[in-house]
Amino acid sequence: MRDINHFIDGAVFAGASGRFGEVFDPNTGAVQARVQLATAGEVDRAVQAAQNAFEGWSSTNPQRRARVMFDFKRLVEANMNELAELLSSEHGKVIADSKGDIQRGLEVIEFACGIPHALKGEYTQGAGPGIDVYSMRQPLGVVAGITPFNFPAMIPMWMFGVAIAVGNTFVLKPSERDPSVPVRLAELMLEAGAPNGVLNVVHGDKTAVDAILTHPLVHAVSFVGSSDIAHYVYQTGAANHKRVQAMGGAKNHGIVLPDADMDQVIKDLAGAAYGSAGERCMALPVVVPVGKKTADELRERMVAEIPSLRVGVSTDAGAHYGPVVTAQHRERVAGWIEKGVQEGAELVVDGRDFSLQGHEKGYFIGPSLFDHVKPEMSSYQEEIFGPVLQIVRAETFEEALALPSNHQYGNGVAIFTQNGRAARDFAAWVNVGMVGINVPIPVPVAYHTFGGWKRSAFGDINQHGMEGVRFWTKTKTVTARWPDSALEHSDSSFVIPTMR
Ligand code: NAD
Repeated sequence: MRDINHFIDGAVFAGASGRFGEVFDPNTGAVQARVQLATAGEVDRAVQAAQNAFEGWSSTNPQRRARVMFDFKRLVEANMNELAELLSSEHGKVIADSKGDIQRGLEVIEFACGIPHALKGEYTQGAGPGIDVYSMRQPLGVVAGITPFNFPAMIPMWMFGVAIAVGNTFVLKPSERDPSVPVRLAELMLEAGAPNGVLNVVHGDKTAVDAILTHPLVHAVSFVGSSDIAHYVYQTGAANHKRVQAMGGAKNHGIVLPDADMDQVIKDLAGAAYGSAGERCMALPVVVPVGKKTADELRERMVAEIPSLRVGVSTDAGAHYGPVVTAQHRERVAGWIEKGVQEGAELVVDGRDFSLQGHEKGYFIGPSLFDHVKPEMSSYQEEIFGPVLQIVRAETFEEALALPSNHQYGNGVAIFTQNGRAARDFAAWVNVGMVGINVPIPVPVAYHTFGGWKRSAFGDINQHGMEGVRFWTKTKTVTARWPDSALEHSDSSFVIPTMR
């Protein structure tokens, strides 16, 4: 059995907790490896390594740090096939989608290559008599990232890409369900020239997370995962004086107005609802057609589209999506489908009985479609995170706008229409953090910023782009006056200084 070990201070570290998590092959259901689950002491070892590396790395000039990022990007690209296969074998997403996962992370690394420009401070000459004011962005010290299973390459790179480029040193606690790619990324960072201890990977569960959240040398924590854990991480981290951003779950809606290009909508919905087996925080698991005619047409055409979707092993180049990540997750998704039926929604297509010949023990689940889903149903309110699309019918634009706006989650939303005015109003008014206009999965490009609203994010600074730079740095502002020997000393002043 292969062991997946920690990566601390530039080297593989086996750990001695005696506790392991099982890593499955979702295509077959077999256990393919076991991953170390760290003790608090092992987390401390990683933090100490990062602390030891901090002085040297933070005083390395930004251009040199950017060069490491350039080399890292080149190395990841050179190893793209191997990384995508490894990712796919543990997650279950198809190879093309695994490459997309890596590529979206690399785009943040490309942003990080421009870090010297992003770190330039502000300067005011002559803010007062003989007084200049300047501000600079300084790294925080040792910082940490805790990541979910569904993007094992992109989300770690969102975090460490910017955090390390600005001069911090990093402890990554990836998902214990697909932990191999994060270790490979750390090895490639070392090869790219990041000194030992700049990027450490510690595997683990709640024990490791708690050790990070309470460690006095960890200054900031970025978390992405489910909302209850995100809330816990946010509260615990803040109570321990850390800067925290904690992204949570989602239930993204796609609003379809009567004038939408229905051919395109069906294609977009199929990909956004069922791609990656629905295991994306920016998936579109809810569609809201406006008006009966739109709803009936959309339903009929989705029913016709679904049989063309191919579910297959993650290495099948012709498959649209692969298995979900674990047997437990498949049970959970099936449980939500059952719940929807009990709540009175109409199950138009049932994917639960899907079985892939020769892979009967794999965690496959076919595409499901519900119609007549109502806002009060728990299967609508909660995140299913599987290949399930729910149709919630609306009579008017206002009713459609209210659905995502009033939902507990506010990660992403999309509107499909050819009416510019309606799209503009929708984007301005909807109570959700990221909006697509005829774009089904509106994950912002790396130089903009990613973050949802409501229970989709705790904390107030987003991932990557300039928000990422702000999250991973602190501002120091210097007010300087140099003595002018020609002037007499000024008297003591007992009032707050003002500039007149
Ligand atoms: P998860 O919450 O189970 O796990 C996320 C991380 O938290 C993992 O590293 C895990 O080890 C750790 N963890 C798990 N239980 C814990 C506990 N009790 N205490 C402390 N830490 C714990 O999430 P997941 O199943 O890996 O990922 C799927 C979830 O992530 C979905 O809800 C999805 O919407 C969300 N997600 C959100 C975004 C976003 O940007 N908003 C992006 C991707 C995924």
